[in-house]
Amino acid sequence: MLILVINCGSSSVKYKLIDMQEEKTLLSGLAERIGLPGSRIKHEKNDGRKLELKEDLPDHRAALEKIIACITDKEYGAVNDVSEITAVGHRTVHGGEKFNKAILVNREVLNELESLFELAPLHNPPNVLGIKTCQELMPHAPQVAVFDTAFHQTIPDYAFTYALPYEYYEKYGIRKYGFHGTSHKYVSGRAAAILGKPLTDLKIVVCHLGNGSSITAVKNGISVDTTMGFTPLAGLPMGTRTGDIDPAVVPFIMEKENLSIEEVSSLMNKKSGVLGVSGISSDFRDLEKAEAEGNKRAELALNMFIYSVKKWIGAFSAAMGGLDAVVFTGGIGENAIELREKVLTGMDFLGLEVDKEKNNVRGKETIISKDGCRAAALVVPTNEELMIAKETQALV
Ligand code: AMP
Repeated sequence: MLILVINCGSSSVKYKLIDMQEEKTLLSGLAERIGLPGSRIKHEKNDGRKLELKEDLPDHRAALEKIIACITDKEYGAVNDVSEITAVGHRTVHGGEKFNKAILVNREVLNELESLFELAPLHNPPNVLGIKTCQELMPHAPQVAVFDTAFHQTIPDYAFTYALPYEYYEKYGIRKYGFHGTSHKYVSGRAAAILGKPLTDLKIVVCHLGNGSSITAVKNGISVDTTMGFTPLAGLPMGTRTGDIDPAVVPFIMEKENLSIEEVSSLMNKKSGVLGVSGISSDFRDLEKAEAEGNKRAELALNMFIYSVKKWIGAFSAAMGGLDAVVFTGGIGENAIELREKVLTGMDFLGLEVDKEKNNVRGKETIISKDGCRAAALVVPTNEELMIAKETQALV
């Protein structure tokens, strides 16, 4: 069975074709700058052959047509005809409270997804556009929507409700939803397999640390709390996002700097986080380099991030009534060796002790805690596309 995984953004489409028999990626690629000057497609087959097409891509349909041409190309493709693709799995950011698991798309589901646009105005409209376009271009293939929020629908009301007048939850659906759910689900499952224990017996804290970062408490296989909230702005300080701050700061800055709603939203989403504090970069590699060269604000930004990760591990251990494993994933979690060591230092009260030698690893499934620790620490590279493909396969 061949599953095409699509991640459709406002000006980009990422894709991966996966053979489910061996869980093997056959090809992958990215169409970017859709509707903008300089649009192009970068395509790679699993034998290493690469293709870069500088193509005019005025809209998502044009991009998906070209992607299909790449997938069916004699030299760079993996199938002779698009009909060989069994189904398409779509990364869909927001499922609101309506969707607590992946779903086979029909007209009714599309209507419901459109009613959720208000909750994720940047993400859900291109996601739905991707689904509709694939329906047109591959009418034989069932389309499945896999939601970033679905895994977190098990979070109890006392953890997802905000202390606002309750009517705003009822009227507008304002509550914690959580994101990165596909990654948290995949990574917690892999961690249990690596530890050789049933997922249903474990209390796991998953740290998905990347450009966007979130931490989730996974108790007995289900999400019981997570750091992102109504939007992906909440929780940890991120590359360019504030994470949690005192909400009173927002009207205060708006007044002092005479900012509009759009301007303050852009400030909090794009100019804050470790970029805002350091004044240097949102990329942790740049910050680590600057810190090593003595830059105090880079050091401060990194320390804030590390402190925040530590605090959430502690908070979620308390929420779950114990801790069996902490798992690191995402670009930072998988690669930032020193940062992981700093997070895990001084955590022996939770039964966590890092093994420096084992921790000297990037992007590989590994246990990085000392043998015999009460709680394990692991690195597990995330694979959201494979998880989306598996959920798609399960439905078709
Ligand atoms: P992601 O959003 O999961 O792709 O993560 C991207 C982020 O991972 C980058 O912005 C970097 O900050 C971080 N990253 C990638 N490689 C490293 C590394 N070797 N050391 C530290 N951070 C890294």
